[in-house]
Amino acid sequence: TPKVYFTSRTHSQLSQFVRELKRTDFSGKLRTVCLGSRKSLCINMDVQKLGSANRINERCLELQKNKKSSKIKVEGDNKKGHRTKTSCGCPMLRNRSLQKQFRSEVSDHGALDIEDLAQIGRKVGTCPYYGARDMVRSADLVVLPYQSLLLKSARESLGLNLKNSVVIIDEAHNLADSLTSMYNSKVTSSQLRAVLSHLEAYLNRFQNVLGAGNRRYIQTLTVLTRSFLRCLISNEDCSSAVTSLTINKFLFSLDIDNINIVKLCQYLKESNIIHKVSGYANKLFFTENGAGDLNHGQQHGEGSSITSFQALADFLRSLLYCNDDGRIIVARHKPGGHSEDAYIKFVMLCAEKTFSEVMYLAPYVAWRQELSYFTCVFINLSSCRLQMTHMLLLWPVEPSSLLKKQGCACFQAYCLVI
Ligand code: SF4
Repeated sequence: TPKVYFTSRTHSQLSQFVRELKRTDFSGKLRTVCLGSRKSLCINMDVQKLGSANRINERCLELQKNKKSSKIKVEGDNKKGHRTKTSCGCPMLRNRSLQKQFRSEVSDHGALDIEDLAQIGRKVGTCPYYGARDMVRSADLVVLPYQSLLLKSARESLGLNLKNSVVIIDEAHNLADSLTSMYNSKVTSSQLRAVLSHLEAYLNRFQNVLGAGNRRYIQTLTVLTRSFLRCLISNEDCSSAVTSLTINKFLFSLDIDNINIVKLCQYLKESNIIHKVSGYANKLFFTENGAGDLNHGQQHGEGSSITSFQALADFLRSLLYCNDDGRIIVARHKPGGHSEDAYIKFVMLCAEKTFSEVMYLAPYVAWRQELSYFTCVFINLSSCRLQMTHMLLLWPVEPSSLLKKQGCACFQAYCLVI
């Protein structure tokens, strides 16, 4: 049977859908799993208190690569933390039998939203984020945010396979904006300066032990970072502090059109160089400032270093889009302004291109959009290889002959497709 993916923009819209689902017979019949971000589901208090989603993601991934001993706090049911020792990564993932217990408890409860999953994770003492991810393969219905379904990189990391699936997009009036903003990327001049100094420090320290290939890629990264910084500082030939360029014009104007950015992005993805350079920068930070407490280090050393490097990597990936897919906005230093005001940003202009992959993979894509006076439900049968415009069917408020359940806005699209 095809898997159904129900996606909406916000956490609360997904929770509302799960609440409505619980009121139906489908709740007990369908194996449902709700996917959320690490920020919503992490139960490791030391990681959770880092605050921002980026830092939580980075720290979680770091912990899983970290083989050293560490001490962490665990949030219990009574909200009081207690300390546990671990020898490898996050302790919330160490015990496989607890993950199994988590999966069986979740299956017994039927449809659960993100808060319910986090609560069961705390009770069992295992990570609900990875617990929910493990349940995707056997689920009939996967409830997840736009970001997790529409971004190819997120789909790959979650192991989502849209082939032969039904995709339902809720609150579709947000879709175009969400798609374009998901593919935007921005790197500021202070981030570029941080990356440049970390790359130079890493290269100075390890150039004698690095292989020729590694050294060449790191040198290319420093050349690119310097070029980006130069274009933000230089104001010659520019009547305006903010300019908009196509991708090709941007590359030619910086004289970096001869650099193979495809290979460089591949290297960034496969070599783990972002973590290596950031880890070394963090070590230098500790040496110069003293060990301090762990979270201070994460916040001001490693965390910000990875975030800066990741911003550069995202921007480089944007340069791989076709020339007309978007524009590069270059906002230079204003005289007397803060250096943080200067940035380079990629703005995606072709939301439909990025969405076409989802349409191609999934044989059924339905989306629901509420307008002021009526509800529209569109269905796309992409397996018929028809143009999208020819496939749109507009349903009036009461397509009652097709809907199994009425009076439940969240559920309309789902019933219609089934
Ligand atoms: S494995 Fe789970 S609990 Fe541990 S840091 Fe990552 S998200 Fe948090």
